[in-house]
Amino acid sequence: MKSLGVAPAYRSRSGWNALLPPRIAGEQVPTARRFRTVIIGAGYTGLAAARRLVELVPDEEVLLLDASTIGEGASGRNSGFLLINPGEPSANAAGFTEDWAIRQMALVQAGLDWLRLLVRTHSIACDWEEGVPAITAAATAAGEKSVRATRSRYEAWNVETQEFGSEELRRTLGTGYYRYGIQSLTRALVQPAALHRGLADNLPAGVTLLENTTVSALSDGAPFRLQTNRGEFVADRVFITNNLHARSLGIVRDRMIGIYTYGAFTPELDEAQLNDLGEAPGWGALPAHRMGTTMRKTMGRLLIRSGDSYERELDPDTVRAMLTRLYRNRFPRMRTHEFEHVWGGLTAITQNGAFAFGQIRPGLFASVGCGGAGVVRGTIHGKLLAELACGSQSMLLSDRLNQAGPNWLPPEPFRRFGATAQIAWEQWLAGAER
Ligand SMILES: Cc1cc2nc3c(=O)[nH]c(=O)nc-3n(C[C@H](O)[C@H](O)[C@H](O)COP(=O)(O)OP(=O)(O)OC[C@H]3O[C@@H](n4cnc5c(N)ncnc54)[C@H](O)[C@@H]3O)c2cc1C
Repeated sequence: MKSLGVAPAYRSRSGWNALLPPRIAGEQVPTARRFRTVIIGAGYTGLAAARRLVELVPDEEVLLLDASTIGEGASGRNSGFLLINPGEPSANAAGFTEDWAIRQMALVQAGLDWLRLLVRTHSIACDWEEGVPAITAAATAAGEKSVRATRSRYEAWNVETQEFGSEELRRTLGTGYYRYGIQSLTRALVQPAALHRGLADNLPAGVTLLENTTVSALSDGAPFRLQTNRGEFVADRVFITNNLHARSLGIVRDRMIGIYTYGAFTPELDEAQLNDLGEAPGWGALPAHRMGTTMRKTMGRLLIRSGDSYERELDPDTVRAMLTRLYRNRFPRMRTHEFEHVWGGLTAITQNGAFAFGQIRPGLFASVGCGGAGVVRGTIHGKLLAELACGSQSMLLSDRLNQAGPNWLPPEPFRRFGATAQIAWEQWLAGAER
């Protein structure tokens, strides 16, 4: 039995989840101990895999395990941008061939379309909004150069992009902080914890979801034995969709690192303060540099996300002070710069942005390495992983299988040294984009 280590235990609740009514976690342990399929991790990837398996094989019995409660993992603590980007904001980075980018966008578009269909079919109340301004905004000359280069790329891919000058940005976002922007490849904005809950609460019959259940060990081959805090389960096949935590199973151990990033919500703002956040009732702003700051005007509040730390979550006071400074820099006129909720979240980063996807060995399937934009990408990867396991064939799946996996990373302590040095260097480069 290989040990899987422990699941993320965050220092604070997700602000998004805290704004929703209380929810009763699925903790009814099934009487059956043996399942055809067990899925480890009920983020967007695991939820999509579970749903698709049952769609393809109607009498399939799936046990879906999650160490946390729905809405509290990374899937419920992100910024809710549903992007079809192949790598925004650095779509102008090296290695993005046109053909690759277009195929990648088609893949993600299929994930977005499926999510939209599920939200409509199950009437999931997650503030799904399309057509809200979602702008990649630059504050510096270097940032502007990068965003303009991104725009040229989009044009080469036949993606039309609206431009925003500083005055338009001031009007839309309510801040003179930014000098240039383009409409990003965000196709919808959502309340992520509500979306995550809605998908989990509307799983098809045939999927048993068990929350607060951590898989601590997994045997090598079929039938797989899984040790959990709720006893042992046995499965003919196992799906690993627990992102970074797949490492302790030996999967992608030398190809993924964990980076924490941080979000905060102001309290509900009054009308005058909301007017100070621009004329649009809601908007999203993505940074021109990957170490930059994301913001949203949503739910009568401002959301701000920024900061990066290697493998360890910073203490909440440090995070609060950092995010307060970034908020004040952008909106000096606000009456206060207080936050009601501050939280951290873990992302699994690979050196080349690639996922580890496929059958690892007979009966063991994995899709991990979701990075910082995994809501839609995790969804489509989970769906395709189920199709792979069921022997389905499609252009999307063969495109996905033809993509490269993540690059090798050096072992510790060199990995830590390299990653922390790169974070510090890129944060410096990001300058006022932070
Ligand atoms: C602050 C922040 C902002 C972000 N903003 C965006 C955004 O705007 N748009 C976007 O697309 N993406 C964004 N992301 C990234 C996005 O949240 C992730 O890419 C996405 O959640 C990945 O989905 P997943 O299902 O692959 O993994 P996860 O969401 O990490 O789900 C994995 C699940 O596995 C469970 N697990 C772990 N170990 C075990 C175990 N041993 N046993 C059982 N269960 C286990 C965890 O509890 C977790 O629920 C953001 C992330 C953060 C942190």
